[in-house]
Order: sequence, then C-alpha cells, then structure tokens
Amino acid sequence: MSLVDRDLSVIWHPYTQMKTALPPVPIVRGEGACLYGEDGKKYIDGVSSWWVNIHGHAHPYIAKKVAEQLTKLEHVIFAGFTHEGAVELAERLLKILPSNQKKAFYSDNGSTAIEVAIKMCLQYWHNQGIKRNKILAFKNAYHGDTFGAMAVSGRSAFTAPFDSMLFEVEFIDLPEQSNIDSIKYQISSIKNEAACFIFEPLVQGTAGMVMYEPQYLNELMAHCRKEGVLMIDDEIFVGFGRTGKLFACDHVIEQPDIMCFSKGLTGGTMALGLTTCTQQIYDAFLSDDKLKTLFHGHSFTANPIACSAALASMDLLMEDTTMVNIKRIEALHQQFAARIKDHPKIKNIRQTGTILAMDWETGDNTSYFSTLRDRLYLYFLDAGIILRPLGNIIYILPPYCITNDELTYIYSKIEQALEEL
Ligand SMILES: *Cc1c(COP(=O)(O)O)cnc(C)c1O
Repeated sequence: MSLVDRDLSVIWHPYTQMKTALPPVPIVRGEGACLYGEDGKKYIDGVSSWWVNIHGHAHPYIAKKVAEQLTKLEHVIFAGFTHEGAVELAERLLKILPSNQKKAFYSDNGSTAIEVAIKMCLQYWHNQGIKRNKILAFKNAYHGDTFGAMAVSGRSAFTAPFDSMLFEVEFIDLPEQSNIDSIKYQISSIKNEAACFIFEPLVQGTAGMVMYEPQYLNELMAHCRKEGVLMIDDEIFVGFGRTGKLFACDHVIEQPDIMCFSKGLTGGTMALGLTTCTQQIYDAFLSDDKLKTLFHGHSFTANPIACSAALASMDLLMEDTTMVNIKRIEALHQQFAARIKDHPKIKNIRQTGTILAMDWETGDNTSYFSTLRDRLYLYFLDAGIILRPLGNIIYILPPYCITNDELTYIYSKIEQALEEL
C-alpha cells in the first residue's frame, strides 16, 4: 500500500472534510523554503507550513541543537524541577520583550498559551476578591481551537456546533479613526466588570489577513490601561519577525500585561507554547493560601527538546541576516503589490511586514467554502507552490530564508492565475 492509502485508512486530518478532500500530498523532506514530495516534486512553502516556519525546513543548526539535547535530557517534570533550556529561553526572551514582561509560563501550543493567559487574568481578579469576569475580544478574532480559546474567538462556521457551550464575550470592532471613540465608550461602560481584553495585534490572520493600524491599537491599549482592563497580546501568529519588527507590539508604545507565543517560537520545529506576564499579575498569585495558586500545567510543560529548538531559533532570529531577509521580503512584496494592485480581479491588496494578502474579485460568492478557493489551491499546488487561500483571499507568508527567485516564481504564478482562472 502507498503511504497515501495507509494514511486514508487510519488518519483524520485537521480542518479537512474527509469525505470530499483530495488525498494528502506525502512529503518526505524539507530544505530551506521548500518541501519535497514522495515522487520528488518540489513545493515552495508559501505559507510557512501553517505560519510556523521562520528559518526554513530541517534547518541544520536547529537540528544539531535538538540532537545534542536529545542525548542529554529529553524531558523532566516541570513542577518541582527545572532545567537549563527553560531558564535560558525565558531569560533571553524576556530581554527582548516589552520591559514590563517579567515571568514566563510554558505550555504546549498556541491554544494552551491562550488558555493560560485567560486563566491568569480571571484568577488575577478572583485572587483579590474583585468581581471582574467579562472578557473583551475583537469581532472575527481567532485565538485557537480549545474551548476557552474558541470562546474568545469570533463565532463562525468553525464554532457553530459549540456556540451554546462557549462563555459570553463582549466583542468590539477593529479600531479605526471613525469608531475609536465609540469603542472606548463601549469599554468604559463595562469597565467595572471587564477582566481583560484579548487581541491579535495588527493582523487578524484567520479572519482573512485583516490588517489595522498600530496608531489605533495603541489608542485602544492606552484606554484599557486607563480603565484597569488587563491586556492579552496574542503574538502566536505575528511574533518573531512576521510584521517586520521582532514583535507586533513593537509597533506600538503601550505595553500589554500578558503575551502569548507559539508557532515561530521554535522556528516551527516543534510544539511549544509560552505565556509571559507582568510582575503585577505574578504577584497576585503569591500567597500563603494555597488556593491562590495557578492550577494549570501540561505533561510536556517546558519540554527540554522544544526549548532547545526555541533557543536555536532565537540564535538565528537575532543574526543580522534574518532582519535583512525580512526587509528584503517586505520590499519584494511591495514591488509586486504595486505592480498588480490595479488588476481588475484584485481588490484590497495589503501588507504588514512579510505578510502580503489580496482579495480575488468573485462577484458574490466570497465565502471560505467557495469553489474558487479550491481551484486556486490546486492551481498553485500543481505549479509547485503551497498557498492556502482563505476563501477568496490569497496570502503569502514565506519562511524568511526564501530566495528572490522562489518569491518571484510565486508572484509570477499568481499573475498567471489572474489571467487563466
Ligand atoms: C494559530 C493561532 C493560535 C492557536 O495556536 P495553535 O498552536 O494552533 O493552537 C492562536 N492565536 C493565533 C493568532 C493563531 O494564529
């Protein structure tokens, strides 16, 4: 039996309608921005393998560090014990985060990093005997697929079967010039109940690469600060250089209380989640009363191998060439956007850092489930490019090591698709 047949007999894939989906493409190895199929076909990974890969596939430096760690210490319980990798990663990360971030709490993935952040906020108030349990979030937000993370995400086709089980959230619009005052008013009107505000800074990925201005995010954050509403900055997608700065919140002056990381944290090598917080939040859990403890943990909390991958990824991230690459991608995206922005099939082309997105004019059917989406997906796959349009929205967010030739090839295939589809 082929690998695909064996897969189809035992595997249930994520976000996949198994009845109608095409068979999965078997991948046997990766190198740089490319993946290679069982049949030898090369694919340029234009979506960084679901937004996680930042330095390229099977990076030899990360591989070396992970291999060394594997023969030293593969795992140790993280309650009552510690290890070098977890401590060093927290030390180094806190140094490059906003100056108010003081403590690091590990978990396994993005959704769990969000669960931890929500629990920190709710229990922060609970521990002080203050009743504040409303959570504010943006409309169409996406913060993950576990129940708490789903609850603070927009209600959609993805959440519909579970909507009745999700706790209530106060949803607010993305801020812009025209509505910033009414959003502030909305926040102030529930300020005595509001525990926290959770947001994706600058880019709402899953919503369709929806982008908004740092200026208005900053104004919103300043208002939350004034009203005593804690802020959770979900950097799971946009952290580690995606937006052209190390972190998306580096584009604003205000500092969040809590930050969440995963995806690029290990360079996309393996699963790891991290939630950081201020001293003030941490201190609210210090007590002789054991009931004030943050009762949360995962079997693989701070797994040493994942930490070694994250440390290696951080070494690469801090090399000068990485930011040079990020700026190179930004510039190429800009040139391409300028070239096709007036094409009749292209609407609303937009860019933040290494993320370029555009809407494909479809008349009326723009849903995530549109057939155009599948036609585009297959068109690019056939051309040896992995792009996963969100409905009629095409986006590119490559690993930073992608070459000019590879990027130019992706652009040329998008232009060709504009003429042929
Ligand atoms: C991917 C993502 C998550 C969830 O992370 P997982 O590791 O997939 O659970 C949360 N927030 C944002 C903004 C994301 O893009």
